Amino acid sequence: MDYEGRICRTPGERGSFKLPISVGCPYNACAFCDLFKDLKYRELPIDQIEAELVRVRDVGGTPKRIMLGDGNAFHSSFERLSDIIGLIEKYIPSCELISSDASVPSIASKTDDELAWLAAHHYTLLYIGVESGLDDVLAFMNKDHDNAELRRQVARLQAAGIEFGAHIMTGAAGAGRSDENARATAQLINETHPVSVCNFSMGIAPATTLGAWVEEGRFEPASRQECLAEERLLLELIDIPLRFEGFHFDYDRENANCPSCTGNTAEFNDFITDWTHTAGTLPHDLGKLLAELDAAS
Ligand code: SF4
Repeated sequence: MDYEGRICRTPGERGSFKLPISVGCPYNACAFCDLFKDLKYRELPIDQIEAELVRVRDVGGTPKRIMLGDGNAFHSSFERLSDIIGLIEKYIPSCELISSDASVPSIASKTDDELAWLAAHHYTLLYIGVESGLDDVLAFMNKDHDNAELRRQVARLQAAGIEFGAHIMTGAAGAGRSDENARATAQLINETHPVSVCNFSMGIAPATTLGAWVEEGRFEPASRQECLAEERLLLELIDIPLRFEGFHFDYDRENANCPSCTGNTAEFNDFITDWTHTAGTLPHDLGKLLAELDAAS
């Protein structure tokens, strides 16, 4: 299958078979994001998805994990998702776990019974763009949820047997608010119990709404140093076990795409001048992670 757009998957899905079921992002309006700006969202035909599954089966593929793409595969209706799961079960019986990105409204659009059916059929992990524990930051960034709604929908997911991974962005609150953002985000994480947290520290791409706001003086970005300090405080405040990965980039601001979204693309890699990657399991690796941040600061 030809892949349309830039491939972006959370680090924990490095080894998964990524099965596109849609193109682009149905929302496409977060102020910081340019990942799918050039694409109009559409769902791929079922026969195209089936052909890809047949291709993988015929070359002997036996993936245990499948990540449905693209920007918000969970936006598809329950009926469509259940049809796709039926095809996965038919052609790839080795699959033990199905995951995808999901927005909070896309979870709200499913009933409790539908969530439970998906969980019973191995669709048991969703990655949510949590971004920040501060509601004013979510509103400023034009996210499609607030934290009260996030808490409600995560509780419904977990009751149905679906876990979630949180994507966050240190620096999302801007210069001078790193401490506040770290505390609010840590509190949210401790309350909602994600199984993983991935921090793509805030980057500003010129072609985004946020990039224009920086030019206009409406948003002052936190420095890389501030973002590193924010991640340090966040790690110290997280008091639940989880897998953590953090990425902080120095990059050519004039030419780079948004590192929040495109950190693993070849085209973005051309513009990285320096970067820090922290990875480990909390609480076991806390000391190691803090030492890595200290060394990078
Ligand atoms: S951050 Fe996610 S939900 Fe927001 S526009 Fe980008 S892909 Fe869509």
